Amino acid sequence: VEHPPSVLHTFLDVAARIPDHRALAYFDGALTYGELDALSDGLARHLAGRGFAPGDRLAIMLQNVPQFVVGLLAAWKAGGAVIPVNPMYKQAELAHILTDAGAAAILCSEHAWDGYVRATVADSPVRIALTADEHDLQTRDDARVLTAPRLPAGTTSDADDVLTAARAAAGPRPDVALPAAGDTALISYTSGTSGRPKGALNTHGNISFNAHRQVRVQGFPADAVVFALAPLFHITGMVCQLSAALAGGHTVALAHRFEPGVVLDAFREHRPVYTVGPSTAFMALLARPDATADDFASFLLISSGGAPLPPAVVEAFRTRSGGLYLANGYGLTECTAPCASVPPGTEAPVDPASGTLAVGVPGPGTMVRILDDTGAEVPFGTQGEIAVTGPMVVPGYWNRPEESRAAIPGGELLTGDVGFMDEDGWLYVVDRKKDMINASGFKVWPREVEDVLYTHPAVREAAVVGVPDAYRGESVKAYVSLRPGATADAAEIVAYCKERLAAFKYPREVEVLGDLPKTATGKILRRELKVRAG
Ligand code: ATP
Repeated sequence: VEHPPSVLHTFLDVAARIPDHRALAYFDGALTYGELDALSDGLARHLAGRGFAPGDRLAIMLQNVPQFVVGLLAAWKAGGAVIPVNPMYKQAELAHILTDAGAAAILCSEHAWDGYVRATVADSPVRIALTADEHDLQTRDDARVLTAPRLPAGTTSDADDVLTAARAAAGPRPDVALPAAGDTALISYTSGTSGRPKGALNTHGNISFNAHRQVRVQGFPADAVVFALAPLFHITGMVCQLSAALAGGHTVALAHRFEPGVVLDAFREHRPVYTVGPSTAFMALLARPDATADDFASFLLISSGGAPLPPAVVEAFRTRSGGLYLANGYGLTECTAPCASVPPGTEAPVDPASGTLAVGVPGPGTMVRILDDTGAEVPFGTQGEIAVTGPMVVPGYWNRPEESRAAIPGGELLTGDVGFMDEDGWLYVVDRKKDMINASGFKVWPREVEDVLYTHPAVREAAVVGVPDAYRGESVKAYVSLRPGATADAAEIVAYCKERLAAFKYPREVEVLGDLPKTATGKILRRELKVRAG
């Protein structure tokens, strides 16, 4: 796939070609490509004027608001990299990232600044603080911030409002070379479903390759609107939604955060052709009593990304959306989002033996191998660790040479996921290697048990973990939440699974919870449930 060294190159071309076209739509506000270009030039000048030098890092800790995109482009224009930070992180998590990555600057909400960010920054390398008035941007009226930025609130005198700063420093972008393909664009701290976050180094070339590949494969019309359902601070939102849409000259519609009513309104107003998010989000949208198939009628493609997709959810989505196909997609932070997806016009098969839905086929330029414990390739249909090579694989982790070499030996990413490939080239993800449950010596993959739980009519969400068991070593336990209005008792769900799964696989215990714990990106946190199960 031909691609320029960075998405910033493409953005500048698009802004020169169609300056009046909307780049961002936010409630009823909008920023054109020309306006976004000018604002990010101004902010880049502001940053450079405050000593932000090429190679420096700007941490952006915001929801999906326009200021996020202004900050991102400005950091790149000033020759720097961005550290996307989940705004739900608590003080200790933020402190770890700012120090670990040596952030020179931060952009966060006024609310977070006044909360704990100011105190956290005091003990960190951060020298430049910017805030965004995003705290209450939940409604149409609040969107006026786009046209009328407020001055920084009295309490935030040691941080500048980002849009005010950008406008005050208006002028040509700093005289800094545009990024090279190998330069770091993002330091992406993995969401941490598996431990202490470490920063994957997504280069400009990684992002540009994946964004342009997506533009080419999807071929959306020029005036297409993409809705950013996944958060921009996560690689899926950053690459599949924002970067690809800007590279394609499309409009990105944003909503502050995932609130089903606001998102449905945005669908009605902006008529998006594409979005991607965890399947849990789509099911939450369709569960709203006012949701109709017409709300989804503008979509050409809806993808579920970044988390397992049970086949039962694909069918439930099809029924309730008036026939839309929810396409699976497999990706990791270390692959700069997607590395396998369902080709347009096709549907992913379900493996007849295991009932697993394929995640897709590896994209152009992407090589996937399935390896056994010795690192040798296994035959079709045999399970092993998924290993990925291609122009979107990160060169390593920030300041972690040993972990980089272990995870990406010779440029091939060992994903930590177990999967298999069928003879037609479809890739199946069985589960994370480390989530395997060992029950009396039998391997149980939580995802297979979860797939069965999702077929139960009362089950809304399911997660399966191994719990210590004096007799079996580990035994299988399921946590479920129920659909609104549904009732089912634990014993009945155990019996349901027992009928459908081998004796060593079915959950011996089911606990019904009001809601399952999730990451900010909507992934169910098995780790937390495992702790809870003791
Ligand atoms: P951490 O790496 O710290 O555990 P994380 O796994 O949430 O955090 P991501 O890079 O966001 O970090 O997630 C990638 C993982 O998500 C993959 O390794 C895989 O286990 C899972 N995953 C992604 N897409 C799919 C899919 N379509 N089906 C099953 N699992 C998926």
